Amino acid sequence: MIIWGSRGLTSVVESGQFHCPQCGTDRAFSLKQVRNFFTLYFIPLIPLNIAGRYVECGSCGGTFAEEARAYDPERERQEMHTRMLRVMIMAALADGEVDETERRAIKEQYQDLTGLPVAAATLESEIGLAKSSSGNLNSFVGGIANNLSPHGKALVVKLAFHTMSAAGDLRPGHQEQLTKLADTLKIPRDQYMELIDQLSQPESGQ
Ligand SMILES: [Zn+2]
Repeated sequence: MIIWGSRGLTSVVESGQFHCPQCGTDRAFSLKQVRNFFTLYFIPLIPLNIAGRYVECGSCGGTFAEEARAYDPERERQEMHTRMLRVMIMAALADGEVDETERRAIKEQYQDLTGLPVAAATLESEIGLAKSSSGNLNSFVGGIANNLSPHGKALVVKLAFHTMSAAGDLRPGHQEQLTKLADTLKIPRDQYMELIDQLSQPESGQ
C-alpha cells in the first residue's frame, strides 16, 4: 500500500527588526511561511499551495499579521502631527485667510502638541497646499475621523477652536465650520456643546 498525504511545513522567509505590538518596543522578527507539501510515506515531496504567512516576535513569541512589519509608531506620530497642523490651517482658513494672529496660534499649539517648532517654510507650504485644495475643515476632518480615538477627536475640536478664536470672536465662516464639526466627528451634540463650553473658559492658573 502506498501511503500518501499532505502536511504543512513552516519556514522563515525573512527576518529583521520590527515594532512588536506585544512587547511595545523594537524586536527581532521572523516572517514565517507555511507551505503544504504532498507527502509520500510521510516525506514531503512536492510543494503545494502556501497556507499562510505570519510575523513572529523573537522575544515574546507573539504572532501577528504580515502588516505588523511595516508598522512604525514614529512615522504614525509624524503623520498625526502633519494632520493636526492641517486641521489648524483649515480651521484658520474657514474665513478665507490665515492672518498673523492665527499663524502665531498655530505655531504655539503645534509646539505644545509636538514639543517641536514648525518651520516657517513648512507652515507656508502647508498653507499653500490647503488653499489650493478644494476641501474645507469638515471635508478634511471627515477623511480622518474614522482613525481618531475620542481623545483625538477632542484634540481636533480644541485645535480648531483655539485657532479660530485666536483673534477674539469667531467670524461667520469659522462659526459655520465649527458647528458642523460635531456631525463630522460623530460627537453627540450635548457632549460637543460641553466641550466647546470648556474650551471657551479662560484657562485657570495662568
Ligand atoms: Zn514581542
